[in-house]
Amino acid sequence: ETAAPQAGGADAVVLTRVSKFYGDVAAVDDLTLTVRRGEFLSLLGPSGCGKTTTLRMVAGFEHPDTGDVLVDGQSVLGVPPHRRNVNTVFQAYALFPHMSVAENVAYGLEQKRTPKADIRTKVAEALDMVQMRGYAGRRPAQLSGGQQQRVALARALVNRPSVLLLDEPLGALDRQLREEMQVELKLLQTRLGISFVFVTHDQGEALSMSDRIAIMREGRVEQLGDADTIYSSPASAYVAGFVGQQNFLDGRAGDDGAVDTDLGPLRSTRPSDVRPGQRVRVAVRPEFVDLVAEQPPGTSENTVRGTVIGVAHQGETRQFLVDAGHGHTLLVRRPTPASPRLAVGDTGWCRWRADDVHVFPHDGAHSAP
Ligand code: ATP
Repeated sequence: ETAAPQAGGADAVVLTRVSKFYGDVAAVDDLTLTVRRGEFLSLLGPSGCGKTTTLRMVAGFEHPDTGDVLVDGQSVLGVPPHRRNVNTVFQAYALFPHMSVAENVAYGLEQKRTPKADIRTKVAEALDMVQMRGYAGRRPAQLSGGQQQRVALARALVNRPSVLLLDEPLGALDRQLREEMQVELKLLQTRLGISFVFVTHDQGEALSMSDRIAIMREGRVEQLGDADTIYSSPASAYVAGFVGQQNFLDGRAGDDGAVDTDLGPLRSTRPSDVRPGQRVRVAVRPEFVDLVAEQPPGTSENTVRGTVIGVAHQGETRQFLVDAGHGHTLLVRRPTPASPRLAVGDTGWCRWRADDVHVFPHDGAHSAP
């Protein structure tokens, strides 16, 4: 018995036109979002964009000022947190220090007056899920950070909620443990089939674990999609800059995908919704920029001459910083075997394909890195 409780074909969570104000600040602003049954969805965005507030409204710790929140197809407005079929894991695990691991995991079931024999079975199962059965008798202080986080997970999963909410649960772990836990969490989620809503400001974390990612900005969802879509087809300059690295150039749109920039004419063959004459922001990822020592023959479109001002060896890839003049520095990433033999001070030509050029309306925000 590993499947989450089913509620017909209903989506796990639906937020419809939800807003939450703190005084004049809209922490969440007319947000609409659906979490599908059994999916791993991340809320990704910078500090203050409303991720935690969104999660807390699903959990029931905050009440929206407008809009509706559905869990398993039913509105949960007015339903207290412990009655919602959701559970939360926080960054600070908040285990009870004076209780054993088993007692910590059993706590919620005891509050619900679950029969003792049931509790024993369920606690053992939950500890098995996170590979902590051997630690049932220990106190939290006798566990590592990663082990404490596993116990917190077991505690949140013991009554098989249909949705697990995770608020930066790996934030307190060191990098290696964090990466191990990312893999474990994803495996656990897949195995249990429970919907996970995972809050993070770490794009790598979101990209590696999620079925879908909601990129948040100022209390709204700016784009919702799988990692591939978010990375390859960002809907705005904001998304393009928040996930992965980018070279941004500002310019003015011409006809037919042409863009005039102070580094010369660029062209994009990707669809975009800009009009000729409009101020635009052009984005090209470092891994799509080629760097060569000789001036390439043919058109000068999407070709920029510059001086190498930095070379960083990164194992499989090599990263070049190229001063292209007019205050622009381009970042270029090449696979090490294919990287040009250019050193600091050398002249080189950066070049990229029109198909890799994204053109967005200039919205004034998010300046180039
Ligand atoms: P972080 O990654 O830093 O946790 P977040 O994306 O989770 O940020 P929220 O914590 O949801 O963002 O906050 C969104 C906005 O609402 C912020 O401007 C924040 O200052 C404000 N806010 C959140 N909680 C409160 C509160 N209890 N009282 C007043 N303002 C609040």
